[in-house]
Amino acid sequence: MKRVLFYKPGDIRVEETEVPVPGPGELVIRNVVSLTCGTDVKTYKRGYRFEPPFAMGHEASGVVHAVGVGVTRFKVGERVVAHNSAPCNNCYFCKKGVQSMCVDQLQNQVLNGGYAEFQKIPAIIVDQNTFAIPDDMSHKQAALLEPFACAVYGTAMTHFDLGDTVCVNGCGPIGLMFIRMCYLRGARVIACDMSDTRLAMARKMGALETVNVAQVGDQAKAVRELTEDCRGVDAAIEAVGLPEVWNVAFNMVRPGGFVLCFGGTAKGLTVPVDTTKLHYEQITIKGVFHTTPAHVNAAFELLKMGAISADDFVQNEYPIDDIEKAILEHASGSVIKNCIVYN
Ligand SMILES: [Zn+2]
Ligand SMILES: [Zn+2]
Repeated sequence: MKRVLFYKPGDIRVEETEVPVPGPGELVIRNVVSLTCGTDVKTYKRGYRFEPPFAMGHEASGVVHAVGVGVTRFKVGERVVAHNSAPCNNCYFCKKGVQSMCVDQLQNQVLNGGYAEFQKIPAIIVDQNTFAIPDDMSHKQAALLEPFACAVYGTAMTHFDLGDTVCVNGCGPIGLMFIRMCYLRGARVIACDMSDTRLAMARKMGALETVNVAQVGDQAKAVRELTEDCRGVDAAIEAVGLPEVWNVAFNMVRPGGFVLCFGGTAKGLTVPVDTTKLHYEQITIKGVFHTTPAHVNAAFELLKMGAISADDFVQNEYPIDDIEKAILEHASGSVIKNCIVYN
């Protein structure tokens, strides 16, 4: 079978390897689609925390090819999607109810290798975060599970009430998912991005107002001007992963407002925080990372309901041999996501 391996920035290769065999509790899935992701773009450009060469891709869905001993919930031929991680439910953080910080998950239980004709799913993920795909759900829709589960978790962690104004900074795939979820949760959404194409999609997802940040001098001010008395938004979400945008988000919320820092930045960076805003204006700044099984489950239910649609999020199809092209097109911003298809 073919799979994609990362060697060094700018050097990814499609290589042949053996089809995996499932151990006890494991599944081997024959992938039908794999989606490109901003993480793949970052990996392609600057590497990742794993030692190369490592297998790439983490947004796939397919059909069960083989089941390991003891697997009772799934059978060969069934259409399934597996999330890319699962917590141990045993460590300090899991027991504290912060499964996204699970030590075991961070170190061992993040699945990579979604860009492959076949993929082995560890027992811990089979048990907690693997789902049978209903007949009326496409493989592309199912493959949105991982990024959507992160956006659903982030939305759940963001404090706002019905009728509040929420600004989403960044309209990539995750930003668009945030816009949709905040809209569905009853917010008046303002969307910020540099691309008019993505801002048009933001409106489709439910944004009432859009700000093209390339066309305004002061992004925070431009957003504040869209609120009563320029007081600022009730909540701001950062879905870009740039410290300067984190700072813009801090400066666009009203006193008592809430900022969610979702976009991961390069390691070791710091951002200045206006102490007046933090103390005298009582703003809350919260970071959020990844997701939890409860939110993966919620995301799958929302995908079933059609809360978001693969028709909006997934544009072009490529064979696995064209993986580089698919990732670079994603990086260019001319598509929301691309899709690898297998035959
Ligand atoms: Zn992803
Ligand atoms: Zn744990």
